[in-house]
Amino acid sequence: MYIGPRSSMDRILACGACDRGSTPLEGTMNLKTPVGEIPHIGDAHRKRLKKLGISVLSDLLYYFPREYRDYSKIQKIRDIKNNEDVCIQGKVLGIEQDRAWAKKISITKAIIQDDSAAIQVVWFNQPYLINYLKKDEELILAGKTTIKNGRLQLVSPTLEKISLKDTTHLGRIAPIYSETKGITSRWLRHIIKPILLSIKDNFPETLPQEIIDKHGLLSLKESLYQIHFPDKLENAERAKERLSFEQLFLICLFNLKKRLELRKEKAPAIPINLDIVKRLIESLPFNLTDDQRKCTWQILKDMEQGIPMNRLLQGDVGSGKTVVSAIASINAVKAKNQVVLMAPTEILVKQHFKTIFNLLKDFNINIGLLTGKEDKYYSKKLKTDTIEISRKRLLEKTEKGEIDILIGTHALISPMNKRKTKNEDKVKFKSLGLIIVDEQHRFGVKQRASLSPKNKEKIPHLLSMTATPIPRTLALTIWGDLNLSIIEEMPKGRKKIITEIITEEKRLETYNFIEKEAKSGRQIFVICPRIEIEEDSTLELKTVKEEYEKLSKNVFPNLKIAMLHGKMTSKEKDKTMKDFRSKKFDILVSTSVVEVGIDIPNATVMMIEGSDRFGLSQLHQFRGRVGRAEHQSYCFLLTDSKSQKTDKRLKAMIKYDSGFKLSEVDLRLRGPGDFFGVRQWGLPDFAMSFLGDTKAIAKAKESAEEIIKSSPSLEKYPSLKARVESFEEKVHLE
Ligand code: ADP
Ligand code: MG
Repeated sequence: MYIGPRSSMDRILACGACDRGSTPLEGTMNLKTPVGEIPHIGDAHRKRLKKLGISVLSDLLYYFPREYRDYSKIQKIRDIKNNEDVCIQGKVLGIEQDRAWAKKISITKAIIQDDSAAIQVVWFNQPYLINYLKKDEELILAGKTTIKNGRLQLVSPTLEKISLKDTTHLGRIAPIYSETKGITSRWLRHIIKPILLSIKDNFPETLPQEIIDKHGLLSLKESLYQIHFPDKLENAERAKERLSFEQLFLICLFNLKKRLELRKEKAPAIPINLDIVKRLIESLPFNLTDDQRKCTWQILKDMEQGIPMNRLLQGDVGSGKTVVSAIASINAVKAKNQVVLMAPTEILVKQHFKTIFNLLKDFNINIGLLTGKEDKYYSKKLKTDTIEISRKRLLEKTEKGEIDILIGTHALISPMNKRKTKNEDKVKFKSLGLIIVDEQHRFGVKQRASLSPKNKEKIPHLLSMTATPIPRTLALTIWGDLNLSIIEEMPKGRKKIITEIITEEKRLETYNFIEKEAKSGRQIFVICPRIEIEEDSTLELKTVKEEYEKLSKNVFPNLKIAMLHGKMTSKEKDKTMKDFRSKKFDILVSTSVVEVGIDIPNATVMMIEGSDRFGLSQLHQFRGRVGRAEHQSYCFLLTDSKSQKTDKRLKAMIKYDSGFKLSEVDLRLRGPGDFFGVRQWGLPDFAMSFLGDTKAIAKAKESAEEIIKSSPSLEKYPSLKARVESFEEKVHLE
């Protein structure tokens, strides 16, 4: 069996939906041909396709149907009933054109007869049909039946002429695509079918033949054909299986390759300084949980090696990740390494600065705070007070190695002052040994490289932290290049947050309760329903404003209320949060921007409007915003959804406190698509279900391991190599 490079066609196979090759496929068309050059696609269609993310030929082929309609069975006209999707075949007995009342709509009427009966068919606004359809012509028609004036009729059916022997739409299982204005399923079929036919016999294969044989998969060309135009529904399933396998396999391959590459690199070997570690642990006002101990140990052991650590620390909100990272930091600093800690927002960065400062103030080290928008920088000579220094000074000190731990936002890796040249503004370290990133799922190779010292052979260790609980199997698949540490156990003595599902009838009662909480000095979050991205983004702003108006004018005229949303600048957001923290108002009405890591110990009520619109993990994150101090706290889930699935999900919120339990429920009920970090892999929806399938994952992983083993840098599989590289561009460098 030959599994090496086959032909120049092999290079196109690198293509998939995202490639740069331009080997001709047939005639002048290839997978990279812009859709505008494909026959029958004009400028208007090209623009509409662009909105769907389709710009080249291969995008079109990878635009998969949402579902199928079975038009393969032709029914007898005598047997069809009202309000049914039917497919019939018959002769045109007669045809005429009419105009409707308003004279604006044309109506074409025909009588179609088969050997059992006849039926009236009407089309609206398709005047050309009167000339296109001839009497006695044989047609296949598919559409919905209705009753008009007591008679059954077929309305605006799709049609095909038997004489053309074209079964693109009818007399077969027809694909139904997600449609937008001007891009219909019918049009897509009409465009995609000829492409598939013209490339059918020379469509290059992506997977090594040995893998295809081993798992009994369809070939790529067959899969692409069958997913668009299945001969039977089973074939569509097999095509999905094959295409999903391919995606999972590529993800695994990508991760394995990354892992191997990293193992070849060098990092500072940081010995474990048990004295220091013990001293810090003993100075804590609490005992570490067993999970915290276990994770700390895993991290310290990793950094002891001279190869770069790449570890993900997962732990629920409040599970105590910061202290774990502080132990790792002090251990690194005491071995003459600098540490950088990066978080997504200024609020969080300042919080981290405060926490780390408090934990490590007796350890005689310098901590720097570098934020983005404001031109304010602090440095901490820990014997004295926090002092403010200029950014220039802070950067100088960092470069000289005088700052041991630098805490900051994205400003750390991207220059914040556009007027300055990149170099002037860039953070440089003398001896960076550890990078810690909090809630930055996109932190990848490029970011790591930008912090790494130039021309040094050693690169820093990386510890990534997240409170987004992701089921283990899923995490291992999508972040397979990371080692995983999990804090499952929460610190003792946390009060359970009382969670309730609130239907419309109980709204008033809930408002009364909130008023009482506010009167006794507590604070309240109100989260507005999630607005899908496809919907108008200004809609989100509108919802917040409306909710804010309603609450401040009608419901709580005596309370002080503010709002927070994504359209505010980060300065405005910061100010609002600061004011909330210092109790300038009682209620904060917000979109989901409040989600990450905000710490307002005095807040005791989290009220979530339209809670059914959020994933469980996100609801859990919201809930984690309250119950952060001694006060009993509450989470109210408002919903008017009557669906059973919603009910099950929301009830899981009452049943479970653990983010991990909830993430598993979410995976079961909603599939993996909602998990943070999953979408960026660009998996088609149907492949998502395979992400929850442990067996499918194991299969893909095993195959990827075999391939990597036989060719670690994938030289033997140039096509796979190219695809994996294009993954890298997409996943890590965006
Ligand atoms: P997160 O994992 O969400 O980042 P933090 O590190 O901010 O959690 O910890 C939340 C709070 O719990 C902090 O106030 C911290 O001091 C406290 N904490 C951490 N570990 C423990 C523990 N083992 N026992 C009691 N409190 C703890
Ligand atoms: Mg945290």
